[in-house]
Amino acid sequence: MARVVFEQVTKQYDNGYVAVKDLNLDIGDQEFVVLVGPSGCGKTTSLRMLAGLEEITSGNLYIGDRQVNQAPAKDRDIAMVFQSYALYPHMSVFENMAFSLELQGVPKAEMRDRVQSAAKQLGIEPLLDRKPKQLSGGQRQRVAVGRAIVRNPAVFLMDEPLSNLDAKLRVQARAELSRLHQKLGTTFIYVTHDQAEAMTMGSRIAVMNQGILQQVDTPQNVYEHP
Ligand code: ADP
Ligand code: ADP
Repeated sequence: MARVVFEQVTKQYDNGYVAVKDLNLDIGDQEFVVLVGPSGCGKTTSLRMLAGLEEITSGNLYIGDRQVNQAPAKDRDIAMVFQSYALYPHMSVFENMAFSLELQGVPKAEMRDRVQSAAKQLGIEPLLDRKPKQLSGGQRQRVAVGRAIVRNPAVFLMDEPLSNLDAKLRVQARAELSRLHQKLGTTFIYVTHDQAEAMTMGSRIAVMNQGILQQVDTPQNVYEHP
């Protein structure tokens, strides 16, 4: 559980391109904020900076009470779900979910308990011995979420986690992620192109365009009174 603050954060890539400019965004503890905007506007870059996968050029980032400008990704108490899921193809579902805990040196018995409990929560317990290629798209998506959940992160970042699902599954998964957010009580930052997702999932929507944050408001105010 943690408040997340972007303070005047700018990202200029090595080739000179400014992908995010002077971003100020204050996200409350346990809040669910949806980041929207056209392709290339800087949404993924913003998540990656927060996760520590991309350095900030200037400004400050805070997670909870900590300034994390230079903190390595593993010390940020964040888990990220990628659009592509990024599952390890040669590992079983169990191994995919356990991997980050193994790296952290979590004892085997605790690891097993945490993986099993996350799998149960997501309804993927029967799939723990399968390889990713033996799963449907919807099942893979759950494994990707499960891999994040087992780490008990303070902050969940999701980059278009549902965009590879068909329309029907997407609606179902939307409701499941909303329930998960309420149950876990963690801070969620969620990137999407999909207006229906943004409308129904977030308590606030942050609208970006060309690297600049245009508006942060409730779904009603963003979409009904533009
Ligand atoms: P979004 O997630 O909103 O689609 P991104 O954050 O992925 O946008 O990208 C923002 C802009 O930064 C895009 O114009 C993209 O091409 C550019 N960009 C992303 N990564 C790099 C990089 N490593 N080097 C240079 N430019 C990049
Ligand atoms: P997404 O669809 O999630 O926004 P992209 O397909 O734009 O991601 O980018 C995938 C990867 O390529 C990212 O790691 C991003 O940093 C990198 N990338 C994107 N645009 C550029 C660019 N113009 N130059 C170099 N790397 C880029």
